[in-house]
Amino acid sequence: MKAAVFIERDGILARSTTAGGGTATRLEDFQVIESAAESLKALRDAGFLIYATTNQPGVTSGAPTRRELDLMHSVMVRKLALSGVLVCPHPLDDACPCRKPQPGLLRDAASTSGIDLEHSFVVSGHWSDAEMAETVGATSVLIRSDQNGHGHHDLVVTDLKGAVVKILEVAQGMGTLRVLAASRR
Ligand SMILES: [Zn+2]
Repeated sequence: MKAAVFIERDGILARSTTAGGGTATRLEDFQVIESAAESLKALRDAGFLIYATTNQPGVTSGAPTRRELDLMHSVMVRKLALSGVLVCPHPLDDACPCRKPQPGLLRDAASTSGIDLEHSFVVSGHWSDAEMAETVGATSVLIRSDQNGHGHHDLVVTDLKGAVVKILEVAQGMGTLRVLAASRR
């Protein structure tokens, strides 16, 4: 079996260095949050695949360009040793199946890489990720923020470190860790 942890990119794995932070629209403003690496290592050591997820409607208007976005992501994948970055590049008014809270990014990754979503986790400060998780039967872990909303979520923590502790605890209880260890032998 394969299981994954899907993590919202902005504010957890990367940030913009411009005032207000948020989503970087230029390559030079993009900064990987390198302190995340240690937390991610614990998940990887437990056998989870780790993906960043992100809605990037700005690509439609070139802020950032697709090339800039790909460069941002190749730096982030290398520094944080991610399995990949799952991107919705469609405009806001597009009825695409992959713009969060739609669960297309997770479903695509699941069918491409054989990931069991019911044993997988979604980490984010934003309600839309929790909704996406619920739709596919994954466990949602919200990092406390003013974007949490009032919808369904499974767990609330204060930061990525806390999220990893909870994930390992729940995965232990569900028997996921044992299965992941066994499938690596
Ligand atoms: Zn999309």
